[in-house]
Amino acid sequence: MFGSSRIKRNKYIESTAKLKRSSGYRADYFKIKKGLPLPITSSTLYFCPYCGKPMINKAKMHVDHIHSLRRAQYTKRLRAKYKTLPSGVNNISNLTACCPRCNRRKGKKGGVWVFLGKYGVYFMPGVWFINRLILISVIIFFIYIML
Ligand SMILES: [Zn+2]
Repeated sequence: MFGSSRIKRNKYIESTAKLKRSSGYRADYFKIKKGLPLPITSSTLYFCPYCGKPMINKAKMHVDHIHSLRRAQYTKRLRAKYKTLPSGVNNISNLTACCPRCNRRKGKKGGVWVFLGKYGVYFMPGVWFINRLILISVIIFFIYIML
């Protein structure tokens, strides 16, 4: 009788741990997601899925929980989902490298941020590049007409 309640208790602790930040999630992420190797240099390239910015320095990158810990804890559907995954919210499918600025802006937000966290890496780098191209063209144009 006491034994079974202890098992239940342990199960409870184990399942709440799945909804908390693990100590090694950052290292685990970089172990699995190697990024794009850059020729000549030994560094690898990552893209922020939220703004598309290219990133090289791992030390400056943030590893973000796509579904924030708070959302995973307080949303019934997400709680059920992450309790079944072996590493819970720290599962690789819920992690993404991103730039510090976007991580700060995102915070606990869901919706479009979750969509971008999952799929943004496939198109946001293009958006980032086109934005820079337009900006540079405008600057060159103004320099040209002022000369
Ligand atoms: Zn970003």
